[in-house]
Order: sequence, then C-alpha cells, then structure tokens
Amino acid sequence: MTDLTKMKIAEARDLMKAGELSSRELTEAHIAAVDAADSLNAYIVKTPEIALANADAADKKIKAGNQKGMTGIPVGIKDLFATKGVHTQACSHILDGFKPEYESTVTQNLWNDGAVMLGKLNMDEFAMGSSNETSYYGPVKNPWRATGSNNDFVPGGSSGGSVASVSGYAAMGATASDTGGSIRQPASFTGTFGMKPTYGRCSRYGMVAFASSLDQAGTITRDVRDGAIMLEAMAGFDPKDSTSVDIAVPNFEAALTGDIRGMKIGIPQEYHLAGMPGEIEALWHQGIEWMKAAGAEVVDINLPHTKYALPAYYIIAPAEASSNLARYDGVKYGLRDAPNGGNLDDMYYTTRASGFGDEVKRRIMIGTYVLSAGYYDAYYLKAQKVRQLIADDFKRAFEKVDAILTPTAPSAAFAFGEKSDDPLAMYLNDVFTVPASLAGLPGSSVPAGLSADGLPLGLQVLANAWDEETVLKISGVIEQAAAFSATPSEWWR
Ligand code: GLN
Repeated sequence: MTDLTKMKIAEARDLMKAGELSSRELTEAHIAAVDAADSLNAYIVKTPEIALANADAADKKIKAGNQKGMTGIPVGIKDLFATKGVHTQACSHILDGFKPEYESTVTQNLWNDGAVMLGKLNMDEFAMGSSNETSYYGPVKNPWRATGSNNDFVPGGSSGGSVASVSGYAAMGATASDTGGSIRQPASFTGTFGMKPTYGRCSRYGMVAFASSLDQAGTITRDVRDGAIMLEAMAGFDPKDSTSVDIAVPNFEAALTGDIRGMKIGIPQEYHLAGMPGEIEALWHQGIEWMKAAGAEVVDINLPHTKYALPAYYIIAPAEASSNLARYDGVKYGLRDAPNGGNLDDMYYTTRASGFGDEVKRRIMIGTYVLSAGYYDAYYLKAQKVRQLIADDFKRAFEKVDAILTPTAPSAAFAFGEKSDDPLAMYLNDVFTVPASLAGLPGSSVPAGLSADGLPLGLQVLANAWDEETVLKISGVIEQAAAFSATPSEWWR
C-alpha cells in the first residue's frame, strides 16, 4: 500500500474527490506519523481528537459535493497562530498556559475550507531566530542528515517545526510566518517549498506579533502546486486587519502553466557575496541556466542598497518587537511571576525576566535603545529611510524584469550550537531574504539541489507586489528542471 503520509496535497485532494480515499484514512495515517516523528520535536502540542473530528466533517463535505482545495487535508499550525482553546504561545514561556478565545483568520480560512488540524508546531521564540534553537520547548531537529553521518542539523528558523513536520512526513502542509526569512530559509534547509506572499495578502489577525510591518503568513509544502493550493485557502482580505489589502485572491494553481517564455529574470549583482560557498554560487548559476533553457531572458540587475538591508532590518524588527512585546507584563495573560511581598513593578520585572529567553531579551534591549530619545533619529528613523531606498531599488528593478532569482540562504543547514553564541553569524543567514521582506514583496524558496554533504539547498524567486502568480509559475519551472527527488533517510521513524 502506498504510504499516505508521502502523498502530495493535490494527489490526496483528487483521490478524495474520486471517492478513492477518505480524509479519515489520511488523517489516521498522519496522526500515527506525528507520533512516529516525536524525536524531531516538531510538534509541541498534538490535537488528534480535533483532527479526527475535522476529518469526519471533511468526509461529509466531500460526499455532499462541497470539496474545496484543502478539504480533508491534515496540516500542522505554527504556534504563532491563535487557535481557539488550543495552546498558542509562540513557543515562549511568557505566554504560559495561554489558550486564546478566538481563532486567527488564516487558520479560520483553512478550517472553513475543511482542513484538518494535527497540532501546534515548534518555532523560535516569538519567531526570533534562524535555527529554531530559541524555542522554550527545545530545538527542532532537521529530518535531513549529511551523507554518511548521524549528526543532527538545525532545520532553519523560525518556522523549524513547520518545515520538519512537512519534510518529516508528519503533515501534508504547514502554516508558517516570515518576518525576515522564516519561511524561505527553513524551506531551503529541508528540501521543502516555502511561499511568503505579499505583505497584506494574508490577514495578521490572530498572529502573535513580532514586527508588525514585516510579519506575513505563508506556507510550507512538499511542492509548488501544494503551496499554491494552500496559500489560496489562507489568503484574502480581512476587515479585522487594517494592513490586509482588499485585492481578489487569484486561482494560484492556475498560474502553474510551466510557460515562462519571454519572461525577464533579473540577477542582482549585489547578491554575489564575497566568501560565499562555491556550491551556492554553482546552484545559482544552474538556476540561471534552467531559466534560459525554459525560454526566459536573464538580465543582470542592480539593487544598490542591498548591503544596508540586514542592518536596517535588525533595527526595525527589534524596534517593533520591543513595542509589541511590552504587552507581556504578567497582568493580562500568560505567565505571572510575582515575588512574595513585591509590588507591581516587581511583578513586571520577575515575569519578564523569567518569561522571555535570551534572544528575545536581546531584541527588546536593541529595540528600546534604537527608539529611545536621542537615538531615535540616528537609528530608527535612519533605518526607515534605508528601508524606503531598498523598496525603491526593487521598484526600479521591476520596471525592467518580471522576477528576480537568487539563492535562498548563504549555506546549507548547520550544526546545533554552531551559530547560537554569535548573533551576528546567525543574523547573516537572512542576507538574501531580508531585503524583499523590507519591501513587502512575495517570494519563495524552491528545493533545487544538494550540498556536497548531501543537504538540501533552495533557490529564491521574488516578484513584484501582488504578483504571487509569477513567483509560483517560475518556482514550478525550477521544480521541474531541478527534478529534486532526494529524500531524508527516515532515521526518526
Ligand atoms: N531570522 C530572522 C530573525 O531572527 C527572521 C525571522 C522571521 O522571519 N520571523 O529575525
């Protein structure tokens, strides 16, 4: 019998439509797979009862002829999306015991379609990190190992649980969020397809806020078609989020025509970093050749302010985080750590001291510093101006090209502890993803090859705002050309 946990969303959808598969069967297989993947630490909460109830409802919906794209499909939900009555802590201790009274719009959209919830997924605390090592619930292990080695690697971050569940055959798709690269970089590290839509395409209502002007929901799936199907279900205007935009959601799957003849693909010269591993350059070059072979025109472009993107991001994101995280004070929700005989201030101090991890504290300190009187103009305001220049770079580029192709990350997955003592080395992971985040643009990471050690590597596709269809179309062509068929060894099962 075929292993149902290795099926793609599109295949399962079509089989369910034809009456050859039930969501119940599919869901039972996935509940078992979630248990079998315990050693990855991808799930921090499992919801098998909810999953089975969802599955039965989905089977009824399908029988009644009301099947939609995600009906009956088992998915994992990043712990940053509010799920009514179910653990939602953005993997922080400070939200200890928090079970929201409401559902995030993105997850509600999935449930309205009939999707099945397997549980909540591990992540870096408040989505701050690139390796999933900052989670209060411990690190997630990458299902992939280097050829001939039993050493564990990080899955990337912050959506480490999302990518490990999908590449570890413990979910058919997963929600994720991207503030500076948290969908694309972990997708690159795990041979999965990561899709971050335009800022404003998915509602942020009910997403635990990290940096509100950057946070955007998206998808992790096994291939491009599945990403198109899942994103279509999640996206859409929401009056409850003032930054969500009232633009019709296209049929994303229909964009996968495979035809990119005559399209112009830009290659930003500033992304050729000094000291970048040769295999990353080689993969990029391979991607360029695939574009040409598919009939696209490849042109060199310039994004001159690229080198200021990381510094600007690591001012703006912490600034917004310091403001957003001020709400966690032990009064309204989550952890309350009040010392005996202490006053209100003491409670604030001890709650925040014991509730936040080191990386979150670092961001809060940076954020309050760059927003403080006397430094605001020099840091925060300056970074905002640089952000505009970066957005203008892209604007000019998209007058000439339809899309931009780059590597997703400057390396393959790395070992635990390799970068966690050196924040700057960790922040460098985001060098290729952060500029598009600052500009609010849609982007993907497509599995495109393997490192010399046998670990997955991704290519990043970027397009103009609201042009997810171009991102998906080009991603589909890369997927076809790369014919990426490597799989992890399943040591965890
Ligand atoms: N790694 C980046 C950071 O730590 C991006 C995280 C994200 O996109 N959520 O801020």
